[in-house]
Amino acid sequence: ESKKGGKNKTSFYDSTMSRQIQEQLLLHNELKIAIQEKQFELYLQPIVETKTNKIVSAEALIRWNHPTKGLLFPDAFIEYAEQSSLIINIGSWVIESAFALYKELEDTLENIAVNISLKQFSQDNFEELLLTNAKKYNVDPHSIKLELTESIMLNNLNDTIDKMLHIKAHGFAFSMDDFGTGYSSLSYLKNLPFDYLKIDQSFVRDMLENENDKKLVKIIIDVAKQFDFSVIAEGVETVEHAHFIEENGCDYYQGYLISKPVPLKEFKKLL
Ligand code: C2E
Ligand code: MG
Ligand code: MG
Ligand code: MG
Repeated sequence: ESKKGGKNKTSFYDSTMSRQIQEQLLLHNELKIAIQEKQFELYLQPIVETKTNKIVSAEALIRWNHPTKGLLFPDAFIEYAEQSSLIINIGSWVIESAFALYKELEDTLENIAVNISLKQFSQDNFEELLLTNAKKYNVDPHSIKLELTESIMLNNLNDTIDKMLHIKAHGFAFSMDDFGTGYSSLSYLKNLPFDYLKIDQSFVRDMLENENDKKLVKIIIDVAKQFDFSVIAEGVETVEHAHFIEENGCDYYQGYLISKPVPLKEFKKLL
């Protein structure tokens, strides 16, 4: 009786394992096809300057127009792409597309923000990739903000600083994305040449109801000011959220209050 139960458990476990492996293999192959067949699209989410209440920037966010599953969000594939290094090819496509999009918007936006994964940033030819696209699309590097997460603190600090400074020398800017959620270390932050710091939406979401989140948002804005970073709040969903971050000296915000990320055509209508 008990032996039989054990056996069943084992075979259930095996089939779950193989199903997971099969799903990953399928995703792997589908992602490769997606790159070749240009199934990805960059959506744009407006970034508003707090003091003027104007849309001055946009964050480019990847979407996958999957042939059978429809529109897929990054949580369905970016993590796997990062693990498997497919992010290198996807990321190169993202960079090229972001430059092309900005060319369409350069009369109306100061800059565009692009998410960069650690593996992409760590590539030897990363700087070259940026410069090639700046030239190809005739875009001023000052118009491109590169969003990195705290995961870059996993790399060698001096190498990272060096690389960032080389890239910044051309005019590109850096944002620290999702600040406060990862490996943040204040001493690292002090040394890294970031221009912007983005407050993660998890703090913004509950800051009006939760006293600790409220304190954290204020502290993050203070820290950013001390280190001369501009501050961007993510996940601003209500007028009350916007008022609170404005009163506390946050320079920019993005969130559903203004718009969710949308395709270029719809983004132009928001301007
Ligand atoms: P992120 O860079 O922190 O992007 C912000 C995420 O918050 C986006 O999710 C955006 O749609 C969502 N968001 C914006 N405003 C609000 C709001 O008011 N409320 C709520 N609840 N959510 C809001 P999305 O587009 O699903 O992207 C998720 C993450 O995927 C991004 O987080 C980024 O880490 C990654 N990602 C997106 N595009 C790319 C890309 O092109 N390359 C890389 N490497 N990663 C990307
Ligand atoms: Mg981002
Ligand atoms: Mg973020
Ligand atoms: Mg995030």
